[in-house]
Amino acid sequence: MHENSTDQLTFQNPVTRFPDISPPVQDQPEPGLDRELVPRTDRGRRSYRGTGRLEGRRALITGADSGIGAAVAIAFAREGADVALSYLPAEEADAQEIGAVIEETGRRAVLLPGDLSDRDACERLVADAVEALGGLDALVNNAGKQISVEDIADLPDEQWTKTFETNIHAMYRITRAALPHMPSGSTIVNTTSIQAYKPSAHLLDYASTKAAINNFTKGLAQQLAPRGIRVNAVAPGPIWTPLQVSDGQPKEALPEFGKDTPLGRAGQPTELAPAYVFLTSPESSYVLGETLNVNGGTPSP
Ligand code: NAD
Ligand code: MG
Repeated sequence: MHENSTDQLTFQNPVTRFPDISPPVQDQPEPGLDRELVPRTDRGRRSYRGTGRLEGRRALITGADSGIGAAVAIAFAREGADVALSYLPAEEADAQEIGAVIEETGRRAVLLPGDLSDRDACERLVADAVEALGGLDALVNNAGKQISVEDIADLPDEQWTKTFETNIHAMYRITRAALPHMPSGSTIVNTTSIQAYKPSAHLLDYASTKAAINNFTKGLAQQLAPRGIRVNAVAPGPIWTPLQVSDGQPKEALPEFGKDTPLGRAGQPTELAPAYVFLTSPESSYVLGETLNVNGGTPSP
């Protein structure tokens, strides 16, 4: 896909802002790489225009090499933040690409590979980010694992455990490690999913973690409110990212991906970025425990 160069603040029709894609059936080993997706995704490299809303902030973003996390990392940098990017070692090429885009803006990009399903790696990640950025006031818990399995009889114990470790245990561990470093005014944004309340039959483990993330977000938001730390979530609908081709969806579903939304097309990662920017920026000071749905119009609670 040709990346859109019209910025996100230009008046335009959301139906046609991005093309209605019909991705060919394709497969990548987990985790997929953005650079090998057909068609390519739009992470806002050419289009996202910053307006100074995160000036001087220091952000840690997990899953920041590709997809939604990469779009958020680019947007945060253009809004004035230095960014630490967490990703799996196998994603080094994608991460380098996003790091270079960030450095082009004159902001710092700190690359921190590691496997967050490992308990110690979560604590190490936070310590490394704090040291490299000289502090931390924004956390985006976005890393996620999604493997489609049609029948619970074929859902192995190992997958169930690994999905929970990656999606919700790591979120708890990273948040717990980060909080002692985060001053009043800091923000946490967690990536949940429309799957939290509209679960697909083939995503039992994944959808369960997303419901847990919504709940965790609303509980923690109340706990941290008196400290002046705000916690919110973003719930994406069908967004074209590497997650979908590394067994996140049944293969035959890929050409139809996202077409059943009211807008009639899949979302592009850069369309998620403004939601994360809003929830991280001081302008959302009275928004806590909220789940902001960015899903092409599917009704949600
Ligand atoms: P993506 O594949 O680009 O991003 C997921 C990232 O998670 C990977 O890049 C990887 O760096 C990270 N990750 C996975 N396992 C990890 C591990 N063990 N250790 C460290 N990092 C690990 O796909 P995406 O769609 O941009 O996903 C980002 C988030 O959005 C996920 O939480 C996903 O559940 C959520 N989401 C995506 C969609 C969608 O349609 N794409 C819809 C709803 C929610
Ligand atoms: Mg990736």
